[in-house]
Amino acid sequence: MTALIEHIMAQIRANGPMRIDEYMATCLLHPTHGYYTTRDPLGAQGDFITAPEISQMFGEVIGLCLAQTWISQGSPPRFTLAELGPGRGTLMADILRATHRVPGFYDAAEIALIEASPALRDIQRKTLAAHQVGWFGSADALPDQPLYLVANEFFDALPIRQFVRSDTGWRERQVGLADNMLTFGLGPVLPQPALADRLEDTHQGDLIEDCAQIAPVLHAIAARVATHGGAALVIDYGDWRTLGDTFQALRAHQQVDPLADPGQSDLTAHVDFERLANTAAPALHTRVTPQGVFLERLGITQRAQVLAKTLNGSSLEAHVAAHRRLTHPTEMGNLFKVMALYPPQQTPPPGLDP
Ligand code: SAH
Repeated sequence: MTALIEHIMAQIRANGPMRIDEYMATCLLHPTHGYYTTRDPLGAQGDFITAPEISQMFGEVIGLCLAQTWISQGSPPRFTLAELGPGRGTLMADILRATHRVPGFYDAAEIALIEASPALRDIQRKTLAAHQVGWFGSADALPDQPLYLVANEFFDALPIRQFVRSDTGWRERQVGLADNMLTFGLGPVLPQPALADRLEDTHQGDLIEDCAQIAPVLHAIAARVATHGGAALVIDYGDWRTLGDTFQALRAHQQVDPLADPGQSDLTAHVDFERLANTAAPALHTRVTPQGVFLERLGITQRAQVLAKTLNGSSLEAHVAAHRRLTHPTEMGNLFKVMALYPPQQTPPPGLDP
């Protein structure tokens, strides 16, 4: 048994069943045994693959989207170019390469990465060695200046709580022990005033999820975007108001039991974009747009055609497959959604609707 499961079992023996957000935070970010703190989970050899790791085109079109937004806001002479949860730094590297020729953009940009994992910070340092980069522990610490930010598959890693509606009220789903194994159970009915709006769209037996960490992160970003200018692009899997159990674990690209081997698999939940929208003030938010539609509007297919001319054989086949994987509705094109925050009295970033 890994040390992390021992630690979690000891906590449950001492304090009783553990909330899912505590379990998730412990598994992902425990300082010495957490999933993210100890490894690089990305890529074909890892547990999951993300859009920037599939093709450079993803970061290139995002870079041009951010640069176009910067230009249409009057090219502020100093701004933060930030990423939440930058993984290997691939997306930021592609953004920087694609915006290299945008006059004035480089000189004005201060690159800021918000990353909790020391192991991934090391990899980001290597990927972005050609650039001056600052690391921050949270979005609150970002400078007070215009902010152009991207978050791809960051919000899905934030811990969630789960509640099941019973005939007498909400019961929280928890991790407990049975026969010396971790197991899911339900806590007692307790008042949950924050869930009052979910009484409209749920019935007895339904399960809902709630991510409390979205609000502080989004407030810090929205305040800067609304006050100083900028935009924040959030890309993730999820939908407007999620319903049902989306808590999942991925290991070696396979779905596994989230309780089976704590700290050894990636734990995520779908992102509730309604929650993001409700915490966007004082910034405005765009409509939620499928990733495939967003990338097409930004010209990913033209970019794919240009790149295709330089390729042949198996690299051309891989390139065509990557374009399809990012955009096609049966692959990532529809499952992943995009929403942006932008300042009042401005137009939304290209590719998105107000
Ligand atoms: N955006 C990257 C990586 C996504 S994986 C890509 O698209 O490839 C999730 C990333 O968020 C990892 O870098 C992980 O270490 C980071 N992360 C997860 N929880 C975090 C938290 N609470 N604060 C800061 N970073 C976090």
